[in-house]
Parts: sequence; C-alpha cells; structure tokens
Amino acid sequence: MTTPCIICVAITGSVPTKADNPAVPTSVSEQIESTHEAFEAGATIMHAHVRNEDETPSSDPEKFAQLKEGIEKHCPGMIIQFSTGGRSGAGKTRGGMLPLGPDMASLSVGSNNFPTRVYENPPDLVAWLASEMKAHDIKPEIEAFDLSHIFRAAAMHQAGEIAETPYVQFVMGVKNAMPVDREVFDFYIHTVKRLFGEDTLWCAAGIGPNQIVLNDWAISAGGHARTGLEDNIRLDRNTLAPSNAALVKRAVEICEKHERPVATWQQAREMLGLRKVA
Ligand SMILES: [Zn+2]
Repeated sequence: MTTPCIICVAITGSVPTKADNPAVPTSVSEQIESTHEAFEAGATIMHAHVRNEDETPSSDPEKFAQLKEGIEKHCPGMIIQFSTGGRSGAGKTRGGMLPLGPDMASLSVGSNNFPTRVYENPPDLVAWLASEMKAHDIKPEIEAFDLSHIFRAAAMHQAGEIAETPYVQFVMGVKNAMPVDREVFDFYIHTVKRLFGEDTLWCAAGIGPNQIVLNDWAISAGGHARTGLEDNIRLDRNTLAPSNAALVKRAVEICEKHERPVATWQQAREMLGLRKVA
C-alpha cells in the first residue's frame, strides 16, 4: 500500500510582499481565505507566520489567535502549524503564541546563514521553545537546514525534550545554507531513518524554482511535501503563482504522477499522531 502524501501549504512566510506577488496573503482575513482555497485543493497542514499592517513580520499572539480561530471555523480538521522562525522577532517573543496550542509548530534546532544574515538559534532558546511545545502539547516540525540539525533533534528526542517521534523537514535551496543536492537529500533520508526509525515521517521544502524539484523528490521517495507562497512565488520563470491553491494543485499533480494518494486531514492527523477533531 502506498503511503498517502501530506501536503503542507506555507501561506505567507516573513519575506515575500504584495509587491513581489499580489497573491501573498498578509492580513489575517486574506490568510484565512487563501488557506481555505489551499485546503480545498488538498493541503492538510497550514504553516503560518503573521504580518503587521505594513507587511513586516509580526509575532503578535493576538494575530495568531485570530488566524487560528478563522482556520478552525473555515477549514475544520486542517492541521495548524505556527512558525517560531527567527524573522518575526527575537528571543522568547518567537514562541509567544505557543500557549494558543496550535497542533504543530516549526522548531529550528541549530543556527546557519540565511541570504543576508545569520539565522540565530542559540541552544537555550531552542530548549525553551521545545519545552513550551511540550507543555502545550504541540508537535514540533524540526526544520533541518543542515545535517547537524537532524543529529541535534535526535539528541533532544533521546533526552526527552521532544515528545513522541518528531517530524523532520529538510529545507534546501536557501542561499548560504544547504543547496539542493540529491546526494545530500538521500543521505538526509537515510540518516533520519537510522536515528529515528524506518517509519519516521519526513518532509521537504525547496526554495524558489527548487520548490517543484523538492516536491518531486519527496513525493517519489515516500516523504511528504511542502509548497506555498512563503517559499516560492512563481509557477515558472515567467508566471507568478496566482494563489497558494495553485501551488497546492501542482503538488497534487506530482502525487498523481507518482501514484501517491493525497492524505485527507483525518489521515494526516493519524499519521502524525495528532489529536482527532470532531
Ligand atoms: Zn515559515
């Protein structure tokens, strides 16, 4: 039996603006509408950052609360994943929304370079974010920007700092971090299985034109896929993606090509060990 593929849509991120692509949802109401379309197209996890009125990144828990309420109302069953990534704030403000208890949250466990700066994840902050996730029954998604991050996650898992089995995401194609490299990708899979067990779930995200490459690699190799305007604003070199849903449809087509069924939200929740929703 072929494992259903979980599609995550990263709707907004903290970098692209409407000047880059008018379809990037930046207000909470736009985010809810864009997520709803993506949910109907086949996405079952929504990964979210929030923005201020001027489109700059925000870490305001009130905005996250409004977003969560809207998603629960308009996309019942969809898995809500908040970003605790570094662009939205410094230090503990990055986890200020965790008491809202989303299903999942992203967790970066090590530092690396980003295109124009250091992506700083000091050990004490990582430990605090992980402890908050555990306290609020939130499943972390480990963002692996580097091989060492997979090993750090395994050490945290062994130490009981990460509950249950983690969900590891390989991020490739961020300038100055890990490029898109098939041998490293295969070694990532091998390493995750070696450290966490053969059945551990993993997913992958590619940046810019590499989004479709990583979707194809992950879906054909039995992993799960992330798409969305956060990582890529184009359908091809000359065409802006008209919506998050359009990128989700593209991932669904890749699933069809590789004969992978697309996971329903019920299947995705069960596979990830998340709570059931009525
Ligand atoms: Zn993000």
